[in-house]
Amino acid sequence: MCYSIPGKVLEVNDTLVTLDYFGEKRKARNELFQISCGEYAYAQGGFIIQKIPGVQAEAILDSWQELFFKLKEIDKRLARDSGTRYQKANQIRQRYHGNSCCVHGIIEFSNYCRNDCLYCGIQHKNLSLKRYRMEAAEIIDAAVYAVKKLGFKALVLQSGEDEYYDEDTLIAVVEGVMRQSPCLLTLSIGERSPDTFEALYRKGLRGVLLRFETSNPQIYATMKPGHSLNQRLELLVTLRKMGYLIMTGFLIGLPGWRKEDIIKDISLTAELGAEMFSFGPFIPCPDTPLAKEVQASLETALEVIAEARIRNPEAKILVTTALETLDKKNALQLGLMAGANSIMLNVTPSRYRQLYSIYPFRAGTDTAIESRIEFVVNLLQSLGRAPTDLGVS
Ligand code: SAH
Repeated sequence: MCYSIPGKVLEVNDTLVTLDYFGEKRKARNELFQISCGEYAYAQGGFIIQKIPGVQAEAILDSWQELFFKLKEIDKRLARDSGTRYQKANQIRQRYHGNSCCVHGIIEFSNYCRNDCLYCGIQHKNLSLKRYRMEAAEIIDAAVYAVKKLGFKALVLQSGEDEYYDEDTLIAVVEGVMRQSPCLLTLSIGERSPDTFEALYRKGLRGVLLRFETSNPQIYATMKPGHSLNQRLELLVTLRKMGYLIMTGFLIGLPGWRKEDIIKDISLTAELGAEMFSFGPFIPCPDTPLAKEVQASLETALEVIAEARIRNPEAKILVTTALETLDKKNALQLGLMAGANSIMLNVTPSRYRQLYSIYPFRAGTDTAIESRIEFVVNLLQSLGRAPTDLGVS
């Protein structure tokens, strides 16, 4: 299974590489490999993440050639109308990004958390949850499996705020993954010191997924006792300056959240220079103080995707698992047709998947990853989307 198409290196200008994808040129930064013209490489998030032998690359490209152009035609056809807000957003997505779609895998490696975020099912105070932790070697093995066996080129490693993983352990994980199965690697572990993130960048980590959750400081302080929005935002700004690709966003429909907040939340995501917008509906979780609150609706979540796309044509916008959870059969397609162009598949080892219960009945927790991939690949093809990288402009 292959989620990204290798590009042929046309030009190397210091760390900036120009790649060719069937005649289309894309740029990517190369900080990790020795690379020269005529070689083949995979790029993700604007970074070269893997080299691939010429013979292997040409075989993959041969199998893609016909499909590549066919998919583009399907996508263009499906994006012709602009009557509704969703269609308008989808048309903008198509114009700015073509039919590219990023596919990330996510491994949730620990559900221990020192925090007590009111909305979150893995909060420290939830004593009814069975806790688990994957050891460093187990995390690396799961990542290597996702990259080498399942074909992922971009991975997110996520956990609660779990200090069991100190800086040395995190370094060992990043180093191990990047040595054995290079990919665009992102961590989502909550707040850590800038020094730790600096050290991880040096080992090849390139992405951080850290939502600011809400642009409203009062709601933030209520939802995350003992934390301040400013502290989170400062960290995000620091990480971006360090060179990280930032994935951030917010929860739609937290108690106290009003429709007027949509614009503020979207604007803050853009101001933070998010490489990828990641926002999802709030889903009340049993065993949390917000268990009886109202769930955000599918319509509102889709409206936010469309609004974010119309305001930020160049953004990558993710269909989050929470959105998929609202309608397991249709939400992924609806999100992709309302302006989104990225997806995330759960590749956590199946014995842990149900335990990472930030909210109940999460999409992708009860299906084997292989059949989930098949479903997603078929869906992407029916919508004319190709899992290519978008490059840097
Ligand atoms: N510890 C990491 C990861 C937290 S879990 C961090 O702090 O960034 C990942 C995301 O799940 C959170 O950022 C939050 O936006 C989302 N989440 C948590 N509880 C949720 C709920 N009840 N409904 C929807 N999303 C939720």
